[in-house]
Amino acid sequence: CGIVGYIGDGNASEIIIDGLKKLEYRGYDSSGIAIFNKGKLEVRKYKGRIANLEAAIAGEHFESKIGIGHTRWATHGAPSDVNAHPHSNMDQSIAIVHNGIIENYVELKEWLIKEHQVAFNSETDTEVIAHLISVFYEGDLVDAVYKAVEKMRGAYGIGVICSKEPDKMVAVRKDSPLVVGLGEGCNFIASDIPALLKHVRKIYLIENNETVVLTENNVKIYNADRKEVKREVFNVTWDA
Ligand code: GLU
Repeated sequence: CGIVGYIGDGNASEIIIDGLKKLEYRGYDSSGIAIFNKGKLEVRKYKGRIANLEAAIAGEHFESKIGIGHTRWATHGAPSDVNAHPHSNMDQSIAIVHNGIIENYVELKEWLIKEHQVAFNSETDTEVIAHLISVFYEGDLVDAVYKAVEKMRGAYGIGVICSKEPDKMVAVRKDSPLVVGLGEGCNFIASDIPALLKHVRKIYLIENNETVVLTENNVKIYNADRKEVKREVFNVTWDA
């Protein structure tokens, strides 16, 4: 339902949760975040209000400079802590958030179980994306995301982070909204502009079948053929 991602020198978990609250108006049944803590990927996700997530992590002092967050509106798998996003691969080096529906997730799930001995945690369609990226990962996250996306049918806005490449975030859009926010020494992804207006006014509107690679000082957009595309900056003049 809602996605927020951050990379920069601020406190990722605070910025992301604040951004998710701006998307609450869309409705949701669960929320969660993935951030790094001492090089390890940490996922916290709970059924119910964002306040539940905030309360659960209130005593933890994450100093992550990168993270992704999600508010879920369940389509596959009941609302629950386990089915909430982010979802991870088996060694928990990759975390993803997803808006939309993966139409061929049953066949992808069967293939992952049979050919790659993947053990699934959740009942969601989304979890296949984390495992697909993982089985295609050979040291290059962007390449693995492209290979995963080639297998996926349906609608998706996704955000991906990986503890083996902790200075980078990857996002893809197909038939589900995705924007990039351009900050000073920080960059953002979101499913909707209001999540970002506290921090940025300069936006890239991402188009269908585009992949975005973000670092704290750089954003590059690529098409389905992995060619870089140039985008005009969209200046937001209104307030949320
Ligand atoms: N289909 C996914 C799920 O049920 C994502 C739903 C959403 O867009 O929030 O978990």
